Amino acid sequence: MGKKTDTSVRDLLFGDTWEYAPAPQSSDFVDIDDYYGHFIGGEFVESEASFQTINPATEEPITEVGEADEEMVDRAVRAARSAYDNHWSKLDGKERAKYIYRIARMIKEKARDLAVVESIDGGKPIRESRDIDIPLASAHFFYYAGWADKLDYAFPGADVQSLGVAGQIIPWNFPLLMAAWKIAPALATGNTVVIKPAETTPLTAMMLAEIIDEAGLPPGVVNIVNGAGATGAAIVEHDDVDKIAFTGSTAVGKHIQRSVAGTDKKLTLELGGKGANIIFDDASIDQAVEGIVDGIFFNQGHVCCAGSRLLVQENIEDEVLKKLEHRMSSLVVGDPLDKNTDVGAINSREQLERIKELVGAGEAEGAEKFQPGCSIPETGYFFEPTVFTDVTQSHQIAQEEIFGPVLSVLTFRTPDEAIEKANNTAYGLACGVWSDKGSKLFRVAGALKSGVVWGNTYNQFDPGSPFGGYKESGFGREGGAHGLLPYLEVR
Ligand code: NDP
Repeated sequence: MGKKTDTSVRDLLFGDTWEYAPAPQSSDFVDIDDYYGHFIGGEFVESEASFQTINPATEEPITEVGEADEEMVDRAVRAARSAYDNHWSKLDGKERAKYIYRIARMIKEKARDLAVVESIDGGKPIRESRDIDIPLASAHFFYYAGWADKLDYAFPGADVQSLGVAGQIIPWNFPLLMAAWKIAPALATGNTVVIKPAETTPLTAMMLAEIIDEAGLPPGVVNIVNGAGATGAAIVEHDDVDKIAFTGSTAVGKHIQRSVAGTDKKLTLELGGKGANIIFDDASIDQAVEGIVDGIFFNQGHVCCAGSRLLVQENIEDEVLKKLEHRMSSLVVGDPLDKNTDVGAINSREQLERIKELVGAGEAEGAEKFQPGCSIPETGYFFEPTVFTDVTQSHQIAQEEIFGPVLSVLTFRTPDEAIEKANNTAYGLACGVWSDKGSKLFRVAGALKSGVVWGNTYNQFDPGSPFGGYKESGFGREGGAHGLLPYLEVR
């Protein structure tokens, strides 16, 4: 890494002397149709325009997907309004809970199919879609099923009312999980939904449509429309939508905020991040190295709360970097369907180009690049795990969200300097603090302008725990009892 390394630092044996045999997850049992349209009013409908969804690990088209225009979006909103007025808003909380609970159960039953399709469509390692995305998606439905008949207890003494039709727009990094984060609290609070999955990852949302259909949810309570940005904009701009929930880039979030200004639409935005993972010299270094790797290389770094800035105390920089470099050399990059893969495919060619562009900016600004030399498949959108040292606060790679497996390393000397540097960003979504001293950890965590702060761990998620940002990372919370509020009028 161009740093003077301390040769007394003991190597960690992370299994890098092992050769892994291929361990492919079979996908033969998964049925992917030749075409997916939209799910509106309880029916699967087609549209004239369509686009292809691509397997990012092979660059091969998987299937054709319908593209909803304004008329189709209007049809979905009308179906949602009718379901809200005539049925869903009048249903008892405990009856709503039964449907939500059934969806949770069915996601569990179809977990393996969903995990395989998630990895084929999005490029994430099967280990992650199987063990994290799909179980958490199901857990969100279970969790919010539990709230549906307890809203009066969530806000004691207040009168709580559902809002009506919720328009929801989700990104491609956790496709089914983001759908669950949005749909489960909306249903629990008595709202109906029109949701748009991201253009590059529509498939598990359509499998969810099949689950919702099979679960017997009344027609129109959940409507799913596919398409690109224009379809999302049509939802945002529709007059009969009462609430918008968006997860995605800060640029599009700002655009949405401008377009709902002056209307009575409620809005929650979950946007980008540039999370700082702060390692103090009294931390357990070996554990912290695992946390650094998980913080930035989980899901190829396509994580809004990724620990994409490593802030390491200056006196342990050499030791941490040496161990990190060693650990990175054991990362398996490649086929998302191989159970040994740590880092899968970048979600799209467009995202790969953006990562390359920002890595180029890091090099041009004088930061030093390290890549471990992992073998990478020749076809598919792959990017080697990368670490930049000699990064300064003003570098583009220290300020902008790269949304890829690229870590920027900065150093600090005192806790106050760490806090100052961690907060010196337009974002405020997530941070990690590693220290053996509880008092230091809590003091630093309390001073960070960040929606989530993990202590001696990173990227831990639970449906009972609220998630959301400060500053340009957005506003509103998802998860926990806090996640009910954006879908309710509380008087
Ligand atoms: P976007 O913000 O463009 O996409 C998020 C969702 O919004 C998608 O469903 C997208 O549709 C939709 N959308 C796009 N334009 C509009 C619009 N004008 N009105 C309503 N909805 C719209 O993210 P990108 O996919 O372009 O990724 C770009 C960058 O954003 C990434 O490099 C990353 O830095 C950041 N990002 C952050 C995420 C987060 O969780 N914080 C998630 C995704 C991206 P479609 O995909 O079909 O175009």
